[in-house]
Amino acid sequence: MKKIVFTDLDGSLLDLKSYSYYKSEAAVQSLKKDNIPIVFCSSKTKCEQLFYQESLGLRHPFITENGSAIFIPKRYFKRKIPYHTFVTDDYEVISLGKSVAEIRAFLDTFRKEFELKFTCFADIPPEEVSMLTGLDVRSARRAMMREYSEMLLSGAVNQVFYNALALKDLRSIKDSKFETIVGAKASKGAAVKILKYLYEREFERIRTFGIGDSINDIEMLEEVDDAYLVQRPEGSWSAIEMADLKKMLGVGPVGWTRVAELVHSIQ
Ligand SMILES: [Mg+2]
Repeated sequence: MKKIVFTDLDGSLLDLKSYSYYKSEAAVQSLKKDNIPIVFCSSKTKCEQLFYQESLGLRHPFITENGSAIFIPKRYFKRKIPYHTFVTDDYEVISLGKSVAEIRAFLDTFRKEFELKFTCFADIPPEEVSMLTGLDVRSARRAMMREYSEMLLSGAVNQVFYNALALKDLRSIKDSKFETIVGAKASKGAAVKILKYLYEREFERIRTFGIGDSINDIEMLEEVDDAYLVQRPEGSWSAIEMADLKKMLGVGPVGWTRVAELVHSIQ
């Protein structure tokens, strides 16, 4: 039986405030040693996720921008991927979301028309993104390399905005910290389902684990066999109503490490 771990990044594998994997790194390496794939499934961009994959020495498929796209390293699966894909760098990509250009065009038009004052990544320089997000400037630049989503970093929107989103085939997802606008078909759950199918074809028997910290992880957690929720920095768990959801003691990467120990112990 092949075990596979699907994980959120911010507030789960990474510390919510410092974005550091310091406290989960040993657990990541122990899963790696046991050939257990760790599949990132996060609101983060391809550029950001590649940075963490390379830092941790991982090479697995990953799901970007809240389920907007799945990046699969070329030749990772032995059999041909039975979905429409395109190739970029060394990855085959399945895209579920909409282009960031289309999303930004909508946001710009709407903001002008209704005189709203919200701020997105595209509006401000990396230094300001850094101040608003707590990312260092280099990380902010990676976060700004968006392909499929735009984030509302500050300022308010209204109900008319949400109605207009739906008409444009877009939707809003509330993250650990911010609100992200993505294509209506972008979904962490749909993306996990596709990867589960591909892993199943390869290994026949699989068991999937999911680790998250917030509401925007529900779709991913609902798709896996064993779903785990780690604690938020104040020590509480996000209010997620889901049968069989296991609440772990331990904030972010500390809870993540505990889940990894459980994954090891399951035969
Ligand atoms: Mg999170």
